[in-house]
Amino acid sequence: MGKTAPLIPSSYRTIADTIARGGRLKAQCDTCGESRELDRLALERIRHAKGADYCLIGRRSPCRFTRGCAGWVRFFYWNAFWWPLWRDRDDTRWLLASK
Ligand SMILES: [Zn+2]
Repeated sequence: MGKTAPLIPSSYRTIADTIARGGRLKAQCDTCGESRELDRLALERIRHAKGADYCLIGRRSPCRFTRGCAGWVRFFYWNAFWWPLWRDRDDTRWLLASK
């Protein structure tokens, strides 16, 4: 990344918070570059499947946008711009320590 990302807002800590506070998330593949914003229904589906406390920070999943793509989909959140919904190792340690 090369630039310092802001702290991930607390409204993105769990899927329930994201929905309750109207957070916006986007999934983007790191290989084919395809991306899609998660609509309310998609967010509800994640909450239903994974539980209200499910945290998308640092998650990734195999690309399903493009057939045959071996890339990984990662999540971004909206805060005037799209920001990565993951932290580097130092930041993750900080996040864990602050619990
Ligand atoms: Zn892909």
